[in-house]
Amino acid sequence: MSRLRGAALGLSALALGAAGLAYLLRAPEPAPAPAGPPPAPPSAPPSAPSPVSSPEASPAPRPEPAPVSAAAPAGCAEDEPDPPGFVRPSVWELIRLRNAELRDRLPQLSRDASPDLRAGLVGLSAADPDPALERLRAAPDRDRDGFDVAVAGLLNAASRALADGDLEAAARRATRAVEEAPADPGARALRAMVLREQGRERAAWETLAPAFAGTPDEPAIALLHARLSEDVGEHAAAREAIDAYLREVPEDARVTGWRARVRVRAELTETHARRSWNGVEVLWPDQDPRATPIDALMETVDGAMRAMARVMGVARRPELTVVVYRAREEMRSATCSPEWTGAVFDGALHVDLDRLADPDGLRTVRHEATHAQLALARGPIPFWLNEGVAQWMEGPITEGKARRLAALASRGVWIPFASLEGPFLVIDDPADAGFAYDQSLVMVRWLVEREGQRAIADALRLVAEGDPHDLLTRLSPDADGRALLGFAGELADRARLSPRPGTR
Ligand SMILES: [Zn+2]
Repeated sequence: MSRLRGAALGLSALALGAAGLAYLLRAPEPAPAPAGPPPAPPSAPPSAPSPVSSPEASPAPRPEPAPVSAAAPAGCAEDEPDPPGFVRPSVWELIRLRNAELRDRLPQLSRDASPDLRAGLVGLSAADPDPALERLRAAPDRDRDGFDVAVAGLLNAASRALADGDLEAAARRATRAVEEAPADPGARALRAMVLREQGRERAAWETLAPAFAGTPDEPAIALLHARLSEDVGEHAAAREAIDAYLREVPEDARVTGWRARVRVRAELTETHARRSWNGVEVLWPDQDPRATPIDALMETVDGAMRAMARVMGVARRPELTVVVYRAREEMRSATCSPEWTGAVFDGALHVDLDRLADPDGLRTVRHEATHAQLALARGPIPFWLNEGVAQWMEGPITEGKARRLAALASRGVWIPFASLEGPFLVIDDPADAGFAYDQSLVMVRWLVEREGQRAIADALRLVAEGDPHDLLTRLSPDADGRALLGFAGELADRARLSPRPGTR
């Protein structure tokens, strides 16, 4: 870094040769982060915030986008796997190519760029590149045979901010890029990705729609448009985008399977009403006589996201779409969720009237809305933290849960904490899965009671910093398996002394 500063200060910008500019621009190469996530795969929920690595990351194999919400649908058993070696087109790759082109043009630019353009390029790798971006914007020669250097600079700086998790800066620069070049699909795609990371799926969808309309044969954009369309419950638009995508990438088996589910969703919700309140948009079967508690549903979603946002110390997720199906079987066929699932968050929240009619229905909604809020944290969040927090936010421990916790305490064995650290749990036996959920709840309640609610925010901060291991014992050194079992018994006793309705 000092070498860069020395070069910038010691030499006039004009004296910098091509090699100097190229060196300065190497860092902005975006990390292989927010690739267009695959549709409803078993291991990567659509809304999963992207993993990030430092912009200087080596050109190592591109990691799969890391999942965040353990509540993602498990995927359909009949889905075909991707063909060997298949690489799904991603918007991130489009941005990477733009950055590469900018770099390739530097030798020429270093020879004949105007002072503004030159200063802008040199300043692009500064900690605050915004002044440099203004210089690029003002440069009379920013357009190079149709290649807009200023827009390329904005995309470069925005993608770097996105990779660093600075969503605010990423949003500002990507928005500016769209203003500068409204017809540029790359600018719209990057802005849409940033908005999606911010939980503003509707705004993201509206930003990307013109890019898809203008370049329907660009598969990365078609796929992102399909994903966003599903996030906001625009099934017709999703089907159109999926078809456009599969025309270009027919070998994508996972998207082919997903297309069938989207068709089911479209049919099941064809006559649904739509209502929006406070950023919560609900699609529901208003003709169904049981579909009355929609106000309660919206308030519950809003309240749960608010409560979770307070714990996290962030703003409430600005937007969330909720799709209500008439019956449990419909919900399952539309999402491929396992049998025991009461609701699903996969970018949108899916629930059904059977569940809502259940005494515990709104607890389930709170649980999934918590996942929706948690999905905005930089992940991947360990299973125990994600599921423990979601259960904690459901409300007081029910009688049924108290029985389970008592059983956990008397069983005398616990799951090693490290086994619950992965973002997903693959457990065949539903009883074992139940224990994993129960223990996760106990771990989170332990953390909250012993260390205060702030410990949850601390844990999420450590996760965001890429340090998700051994969180419970690091934040609460007294926590070990045996102590935890004792605490499970204590929670069960307390819940029985002040019984609550509910059976789970
Ligand atoms: Zn969950």
